[in-house]
Amino acid sequence: MQLPTYDDVVAAAARLAGHAHATPVLRSATADARWGARFFFKCENFQRMGAFKFRGAFNALSKFDAAQRRAGAIAFSSGNHAQAVALSARLLAMPALIVMPQDAPAAKLAATRGYGAEVRQYDRFSEDREALTQRLAAERGMTLIPPYDHPDVIAGQGTAAKELIEETGPLDRLYVCLGGGGLTSGSALAARALSPACQVYGVEPEAGNDGQQSLRAGHIVQIPVPTTIADGAQTQHLGNYTFGIIRRDVTDILTVSDAQLVEAMRFFAERLKMVVEPTGCLAFAGACADAAAIRGQRVGVIISGGNVDLARYAALLAP
Ligand SMILES: *Cc1c(COP(=O)(O)O)cnc(C)c1O
Repeated sequence: MQLPTYDDVVAAAARLAGHAHATPVLRSATADARWGARFFFKCENFQRMGAFKFRGAFNALSKFDAAQRRAGAIAFSSGNHAQAVALSARLLAMPALIVMPQDAPAAKLAATRGYGAEVRQYDRFSEDREALTQRLAAERGMTLIPPYDHPDVIAGQGTAAKELIEETGPLDRLYVCLGGGGLTSGSALAARALSPACQVYGVEPEAGNDGQQSLRAGHIVQIPVPTTIADGAQTQHLGNYTFGIIRRDVTDILTVSDAQLVEAMRFFAERLKMVVEPTGCLAFAGACADAAAIRGQRVGVIISGGNVDLARYAALLAP
């Protein structure tokens, strides 16, 4: 297994130029004063389709050869990866088929179809999603793009941290939202190359700390689907590629509670006037919980996405 390198991140950045947004890096005098640190917020909630996942999907689909382009891409996801593959396929003029559970939120189904993808729904309780996707891929000759454990996906996700550090200069610490580890491993590749002394932390939900357990155990640990408001980080295990990079390049994996995520979400709304989805708050919540360690430091925070149903957002923030 050949792990992707920083050169792959650089190549991904060239493919994404003119297609992905170079998202803003925001500062907050309030956050800096409250924690005695200098925060740099990389706002991937302002990325196309509302999350960093566009970077990895577009990079992966851009590398298809002519035959792969004709047949198109297939993915299984009910979240941001679905929309990322759908939008990337539309921009690259190829077909996309997204496998989603029958009980996926109507808004997500509509968004995915809105980007022009075909949606195949399945019954979560009676059908095996991976087997179904493999069968459809084989039948139609489509290329399966997984949400995180793929070298081109990891390299694409790494372009966000590359942009961040190129803009801010070296950082002391970088906090990243962690699910299956595509964003964290890509960010670590960029940080190692551009700011070698920077400590990189993945932050995952307390209820779903499979990444932390894996790092401690030295092998990939699988857990049942965790119950957490961070729906983009309900992954059950890291991948072979992502774990290989994380265990080499990531300093540690931290966890935060749902209550800490809501606190961070409220801070972003009140102070930065920004809608961030619960999963997108992991990194900042993790940095805040690390209060003693971040004092006096230059702290990068990757805000991973902003896709949250408004009724749910309001309910989470309601006092
Ligand atoms: C997918 C996702 C994550 C987790 O990313 P991984 O690459 O799976 O670790 C975090 N935040 C948001 C908003 C996501 O959509």
